[in-house]
Amino acid sequence: KVELRGVRKSFGATEVLRGVDLDVAHGEVTVVLGPSGSGKSTLLRTINHLEKVDGGSVSVDGVLVGYRRSGNKLYELREREILRQRTRIGFVFQNFHLFPHLTVVENITEAPVSALGRPRKEAEEAARKLLARVGLADKAEAYPRQLSGGQQQRVAIARALALEPGLLLFDEPTSALDPELVGEVLDVIRDLAAAGTTMIVVTHEIGFAREVADTVVFMDGGRIVERGTPAEVLDAPTHERTRAFLSKVL
Ligand code: ATP
Ligand code: MG
Repeated sequence: KVELRGVRKSFGATEVLRGVDLDVAHGEVTVVLGPSGSGKSTLLRTINHLEKVDGGSVSVDGVLVGYRRSGNKLYELREREILRQRTRIGFVFQNFHLFPHLTVVENITEAPVSALGRPRKEAEEAARKLLARVGLADKAEAYPRQLSGGQQQRVAIARALALEPGLLLFDEPTSALDPELVGEVLDVIRDLAAAGTTMIVVTHEIGFAREVADTVVFMDGGRIVERGTPAEVLDAPTHERTRAFLSKVL
């Protein structure tokens, strides 16, 4: 369960998030749509404290992200505690961000071994199961450069899953891929949704949003200007900005 309350973020004089409230229930999928520069990536990054908020709060499963409360004051957590919180929140980036010098299985076991102290053998077994789940059982010993973009992104998803996070965040996971590779990555995310994974997905894939999202939110100018079921937001948008956006991407 994710709860954002009045989240604000500025870069210098530019206010990029202007008070965002968002609730994602356990097991639900929220798709975030919006034009370039509307604050989608920044919003995702506040959820695991890759960006520090200037106002408001983020909590995941009832635990404040990045801060602890003492009386009515907030104190930022130490780096170690922030890193530990991040192990509960998986993040999948547009450009995969795999470690180029590690094999696929090493990419997946790195965090469980180093951050969670899992025995390497056990982490490797889990990694191989995850690779089977994303359809890459035969690529365990390959290096990222030997894989297609779609395969690399599926490894990145397996790597995020290896920490058994309570929440998965995806920032345009298919927008760096050749069109023919988009489907294989969306299929994996669709399977995760069917398995009840809590996810927030920034994407321009409207068909995917319609099929997989429980909730669609539309961001513009650092605010969520429209939210609802896929049918509400995609088929009967009430805001002019949403209509204009959809007419461009559909
Ligand atoms: P896109 O669809 O292009 O990915 P977005 O909706 O993800 O866009 P953000 O990346 O969140 O938008 O950026 C929102 C605004 O904040 C933009 O104007 C961007 O230039 C600015 N911004 C983002 N990160 C930084 C930063 N680290 N420093 C300064 N400005 C930033
Ligand atoms: Mg972005």
